[in-house]
Amino acid sequence: MSESAEIVVIGAGIMGCAIAHALAEKGQRSIIVLERDAIARGATADAAGGIRQQFSTSTNIELATWSVRVWETYVERFGIDINFRQQGYLFLLDSPEEEATFRKNLALQQSMGVPSHWVSPDDIARLNPFVTLDGIVGGTFCPEDGWADTYNCTIGFAKAARARGVEFREDTDVTGITVENGCVTGVVTKSGTIATETVIIASGPQTRSVGEMAGVTLPIDPYRRMSFITEPYDRLPQTLPMTIEFSTSLYFHPESRGFLIGMSNKDEPSSFNKTVDEDWMMTNVENLIRRAPAFEDASIMRGWAGFYEVTPDDNPLLGWVDDVAGLAVAAGFSGHGFMQGPAIGACMAELILDGAASTVDITPFRPSRFREGQLNQEHNVI
Ligand SMILES: Cc1cc2nc3c(=O)[nH]c(=O)nc-3n(C[C@H](O)[C@H](O)[C@H](O)COP(=O)(O)OP(=O)(O)OC[C@H]3O[C@@H](n4cnc5c(N)ncnc54)[C@H](O)[C@@H]3O)c2cc1C
Repeated sequence: MSESAEIVVIGAGIMGCAIAHALAEKGQRSIIVLERDAIARGATADAAGGIRQQFSTSTNIELATWSVRVWETYVERFGIDINFRQQGYLFLLDSPEEEATFRKNLALQQSMGVPSHWVSPDDIARLNPFVTLDGIVGGTFCPEDGWADTYNCTIGFAKAARARGVEFREDTDVTGITVENGCVTGVVTKSGTIATETVIIASGPQTRSVGEMAGVTLPIDPYRRMSFITEPYDRLPQTLPMTIEFSTSLYFHPESRGFLIGMSNKDEPSSFNKTVDEDWMMTNVENLIRRAPAFEDASIMRGWAGFYEVTPDDNPLLGWVDDVAGLAVAAGFSGHGFMQGPAIGACMAELILDGAASTVDITPFRPSRFREGQLNQEHNVI
């Protein structure tokens, strides 16, 4: 073996960068982050940038709330403007069943200090006068939610990690993880093997195949999701909240003098197809105009596809992998990972260096839960 590191992180998306930074901030040295492409080019680059605290599981609420405090103070801490716009998340609900579920989740959020609340159709008309109220029974709103620039958020962590001695190697594909007697011993790349006793897999939608390199099954599958940006469009103001029709997953929020829109095609099977589906774009636009007719004259400027990294309960795998000593994973955020990056970084660093996460108890998201049959379903998936 030609070289060694105390910790190797695979993947330099929001998770790899936040974890490496948190480890270095706690004093850990000899960390190498390996990225097959470039920093912040994976799912993180394709995200809509949404940041919310409106979840159904207490672990997600805690991870999100802790992270919001970091996003709010990011400029002071990291010296990079992330354009965090706390204009709120407005969920629109169209059935009594969803009303009951969201009211239950609101009670949980409020008990944990989240300022989310129920909104009547009249309240919705005030918060976003551009949506039709047809079929809407009400909704929920949290004024602290919003969105930010995912690239700057990730680069900020990477720069701060570098300043503390973390080495980032881009264009470096990991092709193998060596395991001897049940323990991690190294990571293989085209340039050779790096000997290490600790590997953290933060490889987003590709995590299943990275896990297979160590002989473990990490149940994370890629699902194509698309986003589109309109040309600058001033018939709707840039002050609107992120607005989501929960039953269809249609969403839109102001972006670059236009609007970013999206909608999940929940019937599409898992794949690594990254092309933009023009038919789905039309479906998305038709649904947008149905719910917000003022978009009828807007034009789509560009669109892109990326991958949700979906697990059987729409929650991530966080922690040590049972069968291989020294192998940890932080992946499978099922479409809501970007926003939780700061807390995931802190929790994973605590787990690795202190033996347990203290920022948030992440044991409900332990990788072994699938084998144990202890799934922890997140309801608020968009
Ligand atoms: C259209 C869309 C909209 C989204 N909107 C939101 C949103 O509004 N809010 C939100 O919080 N989340 C959103 N998400 C989800 C979010 O993007 C992800 O949950 C998050 O970015 C995952 O970060 P990550 O670091 O785990 O993965 P990634 O950003 O994918 O990083 C993993 C990295 O690992 C690298 N890698 C993979 N395999 C290897 C290998 N063998 N060797 C070396 N490197 C490797 C990849 O190149 C990649 O850079 C959205 C996703 C999509 C696709």
